[in-house]
Amino acid sequence: KSLITITNMSKSYELGGETVKALQEISLQINEGDFISIIGPSGSGKSTFMNMIGCLDQPDTGHYLLDNQEVNKLNDNQLAAIRNVKIGFIFQNFNLLGKLTALENTELPLVYRGLGTKERREIAMNCLGKVGLSDRLNHIPSQLSGGQQQRVAIARALAGNPPVLLADEPTGALDSRTSQEVLGMLKELNARGQTIILITHDLEVAKAASRVVRIHDGRLYEDGGVWLESERI
Ligand code: ADP
Ligand code: ADP
Repeated sequence: KSLITITNMSKSYELGGETVKALQEISLQINEGDFISIIGPSGSGKSTFMNMIGCLDQPDTGHYLLDNQEVNKLNDNQLAAIRNVKIGFIFQNFNLLGKLTALENTELPLVYRGLGTKERREIAMNCLGKVGLSDRLNHIPSQLSGGQQQRVAIARALAGNPPVLLADEPTGALDSRTSQEVLGMLKELNARGQTIILITHDLEVAKAASRVVRIHDGRLYEDGGVWLESERI
């Protein structure tokens, strides 16, 4: 079943009288249960595309269908609402609140949704269990390793039960062993049915996904892994 259909999406920025074409006629389809990587070098359009997929910004032209909703027709408030329900964000720098425990951080999206304490706690504990942190519920971020902090962030992203996990350089702040651990976790979640989109500049990281597409100068190419191997970038 199709979860994301992006058609002919373009986005330009005006900079000092010049037009920068950040996305050029991008089309992409993602099915439920896919694990896809979008790989590209700095300046290729990754952040711009992530902002579109994550409903943080709107393209100039093109269509975006997310879980049967037409994103390109929404205003800013509707965009924020759909983002909070449909997308679980994972960032390079974890973005955890330093004074809150692992459990409290994981509960945050559920607080915004107005769930009661008991229900929140139950869901958060379940999500922290999924990432193997049941024994770290009451630790604050500074008491956790980088890998553990990223696992809390994954648990937080899962708490809202979003159809899509959107991971932006999720291993960018981690050493290579810990990176593999976190990527293994994402693979495991995908094996249990979670749709995942991973954005990275690193081919080794991209390979965790079952499908790799390449973005270059704002254009999207399928079989990104093959391309990059042959070019030895
Ligand atoms: P990446 O995330 O792959 O580094 P970006 O999406 O950030 O790529 O950028 C794509 C292109 O758009 C680059 O040429 C960049 O300089 C340009 N760009 C991105 N954001 C802006 C902006 N707010 N204003 C002007 N140009 C921008
Ligand atoms: P609102 O627009 O409702 O005030 P926010 O803009 O604070 O909400 O954020 C809504 C969601 O989007 C949050 O889950 C947050 O993690 C995510 N988000 C906010 N800013 C960014 C960003 N720059 N990049 C990626 N995700 C973001």
